[in-house]
Amino acid sequence: MSVAKRQKIADSAPISERQRIVDSVPQRGFFGHPKGLFTLFFTEFWERFSYYGMKAILVFYLYYEVSKGGLGVSQSLALSITSIYGSLVYMSGIIGGWFADRIFGPSQAVFYGGILIMLGHIALAIPGSFTMFIISMVLIVLGTGLLKPNVSTIVGEMYSESDERRDAGFTIFYMGINMGAFLSPLIVGSVMKQSFHLGFGVAAVGMFLGLVMFALTKKKNLGLAGTSVPNPLSADEKKKVFTTIGLGVAVIAILFAVLIPMGVLTFETFINLVTILGVVIPTIYFIVMYRSPKTTAVERSRLLAYIPLFIAAVMFWAIQEQGSTILANYADKRTDLHFAGIEISPAWFQSLNPLFIITFAPLFAWMWVKLGKRQPSVPQKFALSLLFAGLSFLIILLPGYLSGTDSLVNPLWLVLSYLVCVFGELLLSPVGLSATTKLAPAAFSAQIMSVWFLASAAAQAINAQLVKFYSPETETAYFGTIGGASIVLGIILFILAPKIQDFMKGVK
Ligand code: GLU
Ligand code: ASP
Repeated sequence: MSVAKRQKIADSAPISERQRIVDSVPQRGFFGHPKGLFTLFFTEFWERFSYYGMKAILVFYLYYEVSKGGLGVSQSLALSITSIYGSLVYMSGIIGGWFADRIFGPSQAVFYGGILIMLGHIALAIPGSFTMFIISMVLIVLGTGLLKPNVSTIVGEMYSESDERRDAGFTIFYMGINMGAFLSPLIVGSVMKQSFHLGFGVAAVGMFLGLVMFALTKKKNLGLAGTSVPNPLSADEKKKVFTTIGLGVAVIAILFAVLIPMGVLTFETFINLVTILGVVIPTIYFIVMYRSPKTTAVERSRLLAYIPLFIAAVMFWAIQEQGSTILANYADKRTDLHFAGIEISPAWFQSLNPLFIITFAPLFAWMWVKLGKRQPSVPQKFALSLLFAGLSFLIILLPGYLSGTDSLVNPLWLVLSYLVCVFGELLLSPVGLSATTKLAPAAFSAQIMSVWFLASAAAQAINAQLVKFYSPETETAYFGTIGGASIVLGIILFILAPKIQDFMKGVK
């Protein structure tokens, strides 16, 4: 920081903690944005590179026969496991948010999270058994919980509240997410044929590069952003909390050690448990926020408006996330993978969503600027998003409906389905994040990023049950029912939109 700037800050004292953090970050250096955005962009780029690379081949790894390098789990169980995995990854954001808020601050949470994630991918890279998969799952779930919500929190910390670059900063960051998600399935999907473990190894290397980047550039680029602990535990509380955590972990370990050999805790029961948690946790969050004495009357009204939006988000993510389970399976089993003279990897389809996001996000951003005040309201955008999501499922129902489920389908059907779903995603994902921060009661602002991710957690928890109904024989009914439900919900939301807008009390 220059001497003149330091002087200016001293002159304008008393200065808020928030502003002190903003001033500590070099405010230019990455496309006209704070230099720290470079660090966070590439950290999240590599983290998502590793996550979506792994996810692109996970379901295949689970159900491919052992002779083909897989674990040989039944297809239906593989689809459910992939769904609860995705659910837990976003559910653990609550734990990550809590640790950052009360113990070590977002920056350290990102670093420790990255280490756990890398170890998780390494565990998968070592040819092993189902046990290795479980160990890796625990590491990646906890690691992502620490990293994902906190890296976005730090992005927010670098801009002052009135900074007009803020939204654009988040858009650039969102591009980083999708660039990572785009590249890795192409690479990981290409090596999957030789060995799944090589693919998971690529994911591990990606996370390693992200960690190195973060560690090397954070001091220079991030200043104080991410370093403060907003609500630190007192020494007394620390003792209590650590004892409780220790006891809790011990009890869970004992329960697992006893119930698994007894056959009481099977994968089936575990999946059901996660489904229940996926729905119960956000419900409890809403009740606690609503009843808290720190929540004002206006905030209460906004919370009520947020509930239908949250439910819509759950419906949307339920469809979007089936892109890496049901549609991945459709790519593998129902699609003609010889196209224009090349052999396509079924994992490559996972690059379509992020590719379309990168392509069309600027168009949507331009459209909102162009429409200005005439653009749809937040609830209307959510309603439209559900229509697109529903439509994407109705599209993929067509080839089976038109020519039966015995013949292989042209891959362009899947391309079209992913494309239409992305239109929905662009109406919901960036809008939802910003609406969440605006509609949240101030007392809960530190945790709100995690609450938004609970929509994805709930969606995939529900998916873990839904996917059990899928098979090539039932596909028409499957896509039709879920796609239809989304469209009906979208229409209801559209009708309710003006009422919801009233409850939002001025938030746009
Ligand atoms: N695909 C986005 C990401 O990985 C959005 C995740 C979500 O909200 O489910 O960041
Ligand atoms: N579009 C997702 C997200 O924004 C990425 C994906 O599903 O591949 O990160």
